[in-house]
Amino acid sequence: MLETESKIMTEQNKLEKVVALCKRRGFVFPGSEIYGGLAGFYDFGPLGVEMKNNLKSLWWKWMTKDHEDVVGIDGAIITHPKVWEASGHVKNFVDPLVECKKCHHRFKADDIAGDTCPECGGSLTEPKTFNILVPTKLGVIEDEKTDAYLRGEACQTIYLNYKNVLDTTRVKIPFGICQIGKAFRNEVTPGNFLFRQREFEQYDLQWFCHPSEMEKWFEYWKEERMNWYKSIFTNPDNLGFYQHEKLAHYAKKAFDIEYTASPIGKEMEGIHWRGDWDLSRHAEYSGQDLSYTDPETNEKFISNIVETSGGVDRTFMFLMLDAYTEEDERVVLKLNPKIAPYKVAVFPLLKNKPELVAKAREVFKNLKMTGLNIAWDERGNIGKRYFSQDEIGTPYCVTVDFETLGESDSDKKDTVTIRDRDTMTQERIAISDLKAYIQKSLE
Ligand code: ATP
Repeated sequence: MLETESKIMTEQNKLEKVVALCKRRGFVFPGSEIYGGLAGFYDFGPLGVEMKNNLKSLWWKWMTKDHEDVVGIDGAIITHPKVWEASGHVKNFVDPLVECKKCHHRFKADDIAGDTCPECGGSLTEPKTFNILVPTKLGVIEDEKTDAYLRGEACQTIYLNYKNVLDTTRVKIPFGICQIGKAFRNEVTPGNFLFRQREFEQYDLQWFCHPSEMEKWFEYWKEERMNWYKSIFTNPDNLGFYQHEKLAHYAKKAFDIEYTASPIGKEMEGIHWRGDWDLSRHAEYSGQDLSYTDPETNEKFISNIVETSGGVDRTFMFLMLDAYTEEDERVVLKLNPKIAPYKVAVFPLLKNKPELVAKAREVFKNLKMTGLNIAWDERGNIGKRYFSQDEIGTPYCVTVDFETLGESDSDKKDTVTIRDRDTMTQERIAISDLKAYIQKSLE
């Protein structure tokens, strides 16, 4: 077997283990499971929601606080149906389409000769009249309901609010609007765990700039986004760019940021050159003037757009895959501490010694006051508790023992052991130093 083939096999196997771990430890559950499930839908459990929130807040902080000229919005999931005509999503409504089962590109059945994908050679689905938009009905009177769609991509609400943001804030071109939000697609072949769902979350930036500066900003955001991903992944070498050759008519270039070790699809985020397409289309369909007048030069133009559109769920899945490690007798999620659901777990050495439990509860409560998510565990032996925390990626475990109480050596009073997830080494430190120690790992 070729080395790459065996690597992909191993990664496939790892994905299955990650899916099982997600279920077993409460990260991700199949949607509507007690009714037999619903393809393309997943629910995040107690640990999954913490990790996903960490991911989203890191992104949000990085976008809006670390980049002065980016502001955020939170747009509605249902928009005026004309939005999807302007965006081009409704156009294929009555066209029979075929979808490649391998690369998931869709083609008009009329344009395809034969039954294989012209891009990757994969086999194609039967032609079907379908549209990826998920329709819904608005109104309470049965015969008077209006057709609408759940948004097929989160970015459209940013274009709709471009003028509102310009009018209500102090931003000037160039600037960005970012958003985290749900998107819905009637994917023909949902599957591969979180990779291809029908309901998923995106984090998007739309960067508005002068047409003459597109090249500069495209390169800037392409590198910035890659650097961000590198800062959160366990093995940054597993990230790469994929350059698209087939481009939309308005695009000069398009890149994906990929998780290259993925055994299934690799795309995690698209960096798109959207030119003036979106604002021109919305100006045309809404009849509103969406042009920009430069306050200094008085030049009037339609802003061009660089888009960075990433999948929160795909990133979540790739982070899990990247962190999953098997060592001798333990499974460790070597998650970046900033991403890990819990930052620390606190244990009393023994459950049946009230003085140990009371002291450990005090340490636990004090650490919780920092606002960090802290786990408590008093079951079974310490070794098992360590392994249980390793499997969910908790970077540190703190044990309160008899030395903490000062019973054998008064010098050790009010000290605890802190054990590192990755190296498994233990240190004895003062309870008063714990907060600083943990905060340092999160910088
Ligand atoms: P694909 O080619 O895989 O269908 P796309 O190019 O249509 O994806 P975009 O429309 O550019 O994807 O969406 C931006 C991001 O949203 C993607 O990079 C991906 O991370 C995420 N995404 C898109 N579709 C799905 C889906 N069905 N399930 C989960 N995440 C998705």
